[in-house]
Amino acid sequence: MVVKQRSKPGLVQRYFRHEPTLLERSAKKQSSPLPKSETHLPQGLLRSDIANFPDLSEIEVVRHFTRLSMHNFSVDEGMYPLGSCTMKYNPKIHEAVAGLGGFKDLHPSQPESSIQGALAVLYELQRSLCGITGMDDVTLQCAAGAQGEFVGLKMVDAFHKSRGEKRTKVLIPDSAHGTNPASSSLCGLKVVPLASNDDGILTAKTVARHMDSSVAALMITIPNTLGIFEKEIAGIAEVIHSRGGMIYCDGANLNALLGRVHFKKMGIDVMHMNMHKTFSTPHGGGGPGAGPVACVANLAPFLPTPYVAKRAGIYTLLERGECSIGRVKPFFGSFAVLLRAYAYILAHGAEGLRAVSGAAVINANYLRQELQDYYDLPFASATLHEVVFSDKKQRKNNVTTMDIAKRLMDFGFHPPTVYFPLIVKGALMVEPTETVSRQELDQFVAAMRAIAEEAEQQPQVVRSAPHQLGGERFDEVRAARRPVLTWDAHWLNDEA
Ligand SMILES: *Cc1c(COP(=O)(O)O)cnc(C)c1O
Repeated sequence: MVVKQRSKPGLVQRYFRHEPTLLERSAKKQSSPLPKSETHLPQGLLRSDIANFPDLSEIEVVRHFTRLSMHNFSVDEGMYPLGSCTMKYNPKIHEAVAGLGGFKDLHPSQPESSIQGALAVLYELQRSLCGITGMDDVTLQCAAGAQGEFVGLKMVDAFHKSRGEKRTKVLIPDSAHGTNPASSSLCGLKVVPLASNDDGILTAKTVARHMDSSVAALMITIPNTLGIFEKEIAGIAEVIHSRGGMIYCDGANLNALLGRVHFKKMGIDVMHMNMHKTFSTPHGGGGPGAGPVACVANLAPFLPTPYVAKRAGIYTLLERGECSIGRVKPFFGSFAVLLRAYAYILAHGAEGLRAVSGAAVINANYLRQELQDYYDLPFASATLHEVVFSDKKQRKNNVTTMDIAKRLMDFGFHPPTVYFPLIVKGALMVEPTETVSRQELDQFVAAMRAIAEEAEQQPQVVRSAPHQLGGERFDEVRAARRPVLTWDAHWLNDEA
């Protein structure tokens, strides 16, 4: 194999210096002699009785917050290849839209006549999501993908009960996201795990072996969390539907399918979509999000209430009928997230959305091609928007996925998703998304290759990474079990 000459990967130095709080800085009389704003204020308006009020100049405050902001890695700083989470660049125009006074200053209790624009956004988003998925109806209420799953399963459960059927089980492949079994349990449904085959997919034959009249639904992720398309989905749908079951599609990540797949024709009855993944929106750290649920017509009466309708040119919130599972979120759902998602859809248009999935798939396959000689590929099947490697080749030198992830930070990249999906030992799941350039992909490839070489020649360097972050590797167990959430305990009292 001819190894192409690539740009040399660079190590990146980051500084995680101790940053005193404004109060500490002020108490230590480190204040600069620059003019303070209150010198311009009339004496009568100045207060003198605030105990411990920080006494600092503007520049000190600006620098303090700027330094704090640099303690984080963000999607605006560099590639964030976190598989299954779809950390794509968020166009700034969406923030401008979300910041418009007509949106951000609304109160959810305002009369409908005064929020027609906001209701129009929700109405058009409902229509767009039905168009994008090919489904018949949708709710925008759910606050996240996991809540979408819960709502979708509740609807399926209510549907079966309305027909006098007692169905208690949900079939879930072993590659599924952890929220799938969790949502099923929350709905009081028993989880039956199904094994994927050697190609990393679920077969109709496996489904048939477990399908009976006690199964309420099959939950399936397409493409699955290995990034592989479930090509037996049509046969699987036939098996499930012939015994009266429903198919739930975990559509948290639509980046491989946008503008290309008609979910209803594929046999899907109900699905959620994560606005905060596929449709941009800054996310991470647990929020904010929105997980609309779309469904076929015979599940629509069970959707949560309310929804936005258009009557004689007027937008209005309507309650659904008595079959509805009820309200799952106050007011309109996560309005600001839904607004950004609609801006994303409008900005791209139908052709643009198709181009998004095309580029996302090419980028993931480019990484797969360029790295497959350096990292083990547990499944040979073609991948779509993400690719899963493992640490099998590096393990013989006692270098693990965690070590590789930590070392990547030294090269200025956010680590990929690690140890998921669970069916791959030492999984490294990479999703570049459509928003990275060829140049950036090449830099990532160069860094990953350099780490693979280090794992051979100086494994200790990888094992003890990170080295460039101004600190040692965190004790993750201690961090999770004994989180220190106050600044004073952390910096002033090391015992805490
Ligand atoms: C992210 C994700 C979820 C859960 O979505 P949240 O919004 O985090 O609740 C479910 N399934 C898959 C495949 C996901 O990637």
